[in-house]
Amino acid sequence: MLRLGTVLIVVSMVVLGAAVATIDDDELLPPQTSGTTTTSTPLDPSTTTTITVAADPAVALVTETGVVVAVRDQTRRGYLVTTTCGSTAFVTQGTPITEVQVVLDPGHGGEVDTGAVAPTGLVERDINLDLALATQKILEERGISTLLTRTGNYTVPLGVRAHIADNANAQALVSIHHNAPVPGVSERPGTEVFVQTDSDDSQRLGGLLYEHTFEALIGVESVVWHAAPDAGVLRVHNSRGEDTYGMIRLPETPSALIEVLYINSREEAEFLETARYLSLAATALADAIEAYLRTDNPGSGFVEEPRRFTAQVSVADAVCEDVPLG
Ligand SMILES: [Zn+2]
Repeated sequence: MLRLGTVLIVVSMVVLGAAVATIDDDELLPPQTSGTTTTSTPLDPSTTTTITVAADPAVALVTETGVVVAVRDQTRRGYLVTTTCGSTAFVTQGTPITEVQVVLDPGHGGEVDTGAVAPTGLVERDINLDLALATQKILEERGISTLLTRTGNYTVPLGVRAHIADNANAQALVSIHHNAPVPGVSERPGTEVFVQTDSDDSQRLGGLLYEHTFEALIGVESVVWHAAPDAGVLRVHNSRGEDTYGMIRLPETPSALIEVLYINSREEAEFLETARYLSLAATALADAIEAYLRTDNPGSGFVEEPRRFTAQVSVADAVCEDVPLG
């Protein structure tokens, strides 16, 4: 939630290694609240620049091309934004977003970072986006403001996805994935949720995502499930003892990553392609997110022992090409 009155935005140009733009003082919005000061210094890649602007600035922008970008600063003429690949650009058109409760992150994207591919041909990048869009629709109908990190088939590095959520001061970030490789057959769905080791909020979010999704899936008959022996709500640590996955390690926003089912199991992939799956899973994710925001429910499915796994480095940084923003 945005605080009323003065909002302090710390723009770290170092983290994203972004291209740099300079804002002239006279371009900045005039103060809209008495007592608010508006100052600007040139954005220097070697330092952290602090800009103070009036209340209710845009935290993100949906561009004319339908792309979501984080807004770093706004002037009378437009918005200084972080591009999909983490550079900086000035955009004059688009729909400003001033409040975001939940950021939904459809995993993968683009021609190289496809995610897993099912024996049926279903591509993880596509089902992740379909499920994120369906979940967003339900949440918006319930009055919960949402933002997607990716709205089409393009590449977004993990650091940029985390930046979108952190920049928006969101209360939760939910990364949506479908799992591979397929483990052994199980009587129960093998849903896995990864959470931040040092965040109680992340763990409650993960517990609720697991509880609602698992309960919805286990009511589905006639699908052959697959599950790892330690499936549940997991902390996953790399060889250095850090949270393995970038979408868990990088955001300051309470974050959870859900692997709903196994896309590279033929039986589960056929179910993933049904309208029933999309409706059931989107409703479960929305119920979990609503419970996180509006109740104190703790969730369930927590696995005590951390899993040891060192993930591959995402290819998104290496292959990213900025998409048009207007
Ligand atoms: Zn994935």
